[in-house]
Amino acid sequence: MTSAAKTEVDTLVVGGGPAGMWAALSAAECGMRVAVADDNPEMGGQVWRAELAKTAPEVAGLIQKLREAGVQLLAGTQVVDQVAPGVLLAEGDGGASYLGFGKLILATGAREQFLPFPGWTLPRVIGAGGLQALVKSGLPVRGKRLVLAGTGPLLLAVAAYLRAHGAEIAMICEQASRSALASFGAALLRQPEKLLQALSLRKALTGIPLALNCWVVAAHGTVAVEGIDIWHEGKVKRIACEYLACGFHLVPNTELATLLGCRLVNGYVEVDEFQRTSRPGIFCAGEPTGIGGLELSVVEGKVAGLAAAGREKAARKFFRRRRMLGAFARAMDRTFALRPELKNLVEAETIVCRCEDVSYAQLEREVSWRMAKLMTRCGMGPCQGRICGPVTKFLLGWSPDSVRPPLFPVTVGTLAHSFSGCNVDDNQER
Ligand SMILES: Cc1cc2nc3c(=O)[nH]c(=O)nc-3n(C[C@H](O)[C@H](O)[C@H](O)COP(=O)(O)OP(=O)(O)OC[C@H]3O[C@@H](n4cnc5c(N)ncnc54)[C@H](O)[C@@H]3O)c2cc1C
Repeated sequence: MTSAAKTEVDTLVVGGGPAGMWAALSAAECGMRVAVADDNPEMGGQVWRAELAKTAPEVAGLIQKLREAGVQLLAGTQVVDQVAPGVLLAEGDGGASYLGFGKLILATGAREQFLPFPGWTLPRVIGAGGLQALVKSGLPVRGKRLVLAGTGPLLLAVAAYLRAHGAEIAMICEQASRSALASFGAALLRQPEKLLQALSLRKALTGIPLALNCWVVAAHGTVAVEGIDIWHEGKVKRIACEYLACGFHLVPNTELATLLGCRLVNGYVEVDEFQRTSRPGIFCAGEPTGIGGLELSVVEGKVAGLAAAGREKAARKFFRRRRMLGAFARAMDRTFALRPELKNLVEAETIVCRCEDVSYAQLEREVSWRMAKLMTRCGMGPCQGRICGPVTKFLLGWSPDSVRPPLFPVTVGTLAHSFSGCNVDDNQER
């Protein structure tokens, strides 16, 4: 077995999105030795990925400040396990590496929630954020006819982004009701910053039909999606499209926190006022503590970074803003809660676990997530239940009873390090 490189810091941040980057900068400016590990090729997370990290001055400026503060930016580094107290195992292009820390800040973000319906596995039926990420990485959509369907503000942000890149948006289908959105609008009035964002989105989307109380019931096509059926105002209507970008709000990435023994409440990592989790020395910031958007992630990151550096007094300065943004997060949870009718979209032969080709009929025979795993291999493919886990929670009320390492599929070499514990070659410090 080849030995693994080791990084040793006072504060390790896992996740290089807005929460992680600000946590790292805040801790580093207090004199801590800090590293940020992120599994993407560049820092930035979901909202600032690749393209923005190069072009948007505030993101490029933040990355520059991190470098000037001496923060080690470990891009392309996926944390997969804990091998000893204070030592995580990661995998990257250079193979396995150990990340040793005094304090740990988890800023692992969120992913899209998907729901199955007939045709959802057709090519070009894709996550809304996933399509945006592909376009950010160079996929051309100019002149393509798209429908966005599901729920949540991400649909609007992605629609505006895709339109700006030349796509023709045929329709946006939002499952939330008119009354739910009206009370969300009232919550926006108390958040001038968010209100401005909403108005600018509205302007960017002028002329695009937005249907409320509306959801996709099926996608059709031979080689790829050619059209979809939507349920709207008591009728099923067919719309032609070349892409269906679908997303039913977000689910937090809590797997690493769970593996490390941090307590979860209602599906989110429990934190106190200083973003401390239930495990000593482990903090959590951003979407794993609640889906609240960019600004809340930034503020939580700052609090976590300062608190990890022992600067509680400085961290307190951000409490008021965090409270205000937190109220908005709760309003989002209420507004974009999934309606029960969406449970009826799935048919017996609809595939639910895409990695292992497990149909809904196969799952209906089982009584729990564990039994489904044992009997059908549901959740045992490359995504490790990240897609079908939240789906079966919604459809069947199941919850995974544990998280097992490695958190992501790894090479056999990395797996060997997972079993052997911390075999460190000090000459290879990065
Ligand atoms: C697909 C998608 C697209 C989005 N697009 C927008 C948008 O256009 N506009 C907008 O306002 N909001 C968008 N959002 C919402 C956005 O996530 C938040 O507003 C904000 O980015 C949250 O910041 P964060 O730092 O908490 O998490 P994130 O930005 O998600 O950053 C978390 C980072 O941690 C990494 N990570 C997770 N686990 C590990 C691990 N084990 N090892 C190493 N790295 C790990 C992730 O890959 C990610 O880079 C999007 C969300 C998603 C899921």
